[in-house]
Amino acid sequence: MNYTRININTAQPGKAKSRVMIIYTGGTFGMTYDANGVLIPFDFSLILEQLPALRNLFLEITVISFDHPVDSSNIQPVHWKMISEIIFENYEEQDGFVVLHGTDTMAFTASALSFMLPGLAKPVIVTGAQLPISQPRSDARENLITALEIASANENGRPLVPEICIYFDYELLRGNRSKKVESMHFDAFKSENYPTLAKAGVKIDYNTAAISEPHGEKLRLRTSFDTDIAILKLFPGIDKRTVDAIINAEGLKAVILETYGSGNAPSSDWFIESLKGAIKRGIILVNISQCPGGTVVQGKYETSKSLAEIGVISGEDMTMEAAVTKLMILLGEQGVEPTRKLFNQPLAGEVG
Ligand code: ASP
Repeated sequence: MNYTRININTAQPGKAKSRVMIIYTGGTFGMTYDANGVLIPFDFSLILEQLPALRNLFLEITVISFDHPVDSSNIQPVHWKMISEIIFENYEEQDGFVVLHGTDTMAFTASALSFMLPGLAKPVIVTGAQLPISQPRSDARENLITALEIASANENGRPLVPEICIYFDYELLRGNRSKKVESMHFDAFKSENYPTLAKAGVKIDYNTAAISEPHGEKLRLRTSFDTDIAILKLFPGIDKRTVDAIINAEGLKAVILETYGSGNAPSSDWFIESLKGAIKRGIILVNISQCPGGTVVQGKYETSKSLAEIGVISGEDMTMEAAVTKLMILLGEQGVEPTRKLFNQPLAGEVG
């Protein structure tokens, strides 16, 4: 996959205050109409014409655009690899990064990046828009300008938000705690189990107590993925045939059970026996709730007690998006047994 690179100094003729890299991957954000009314990706060399207010940020901006911008429903681990490599390779010379991405799988990408870049000590702000930048009422302009402001914000040279976040509709959220919850209105993302990191109003109010502190480690890059995982979403009426078809799929290494409430599941013998059989065959089973808020507590109800007894791992308050990407990265890098041990340990502030 190729990309193009352009430089825009919004401070000219003055001196830029910070350097920020924009990585444009695709999504609704950058869609615009050509002279014949056909939707085409936005040309970033024209960004200052679309957004003259950018000049007030005094930034030296480098834009990396995917040559073939992707609707985020087509995002794959190979794209995560590409984004994380761009961040890794340009890390020293940039003060922060803004990733422009479709909203549909944005929470998966933000979660994946948080596990792929341990030791990150600079802001990586993932954002996008519900309406293309070319539309008069688009949310793209505010989302981009504030994301750039946050990506370049520092106090005495120390970045204010040294982590992977999603910025959307005036709220900054931890990336691996976020979920897309809305497809029509502008408030597309929520983080039920972790506080908002900042709110943008007349000024940007940072919730410093909730923002992670770098531990002084060197930035690393992890790009091995193993996608041999599945999600089994429970519903009243689910039968043995469906459960077995999923958990007996050839080559599967881990299954996320999407359970009810605080991690509850049917207590029927056939169900528990099927899961037990999978665990015996070495498959990792993890328990993530269908509820966006709250936590899995196996054993709180009779209907989750046997899950704990047979060896299902509690995903506690992790989002589905964090669980999927964490499993893929741990399995890809370490294999099945270490993944079983590490799965519910926090790697990037995603759990607990
Ligand atoms: N389908 C689009 C995408 O995720 C939606 C959006 O960007 O909001 O790429």
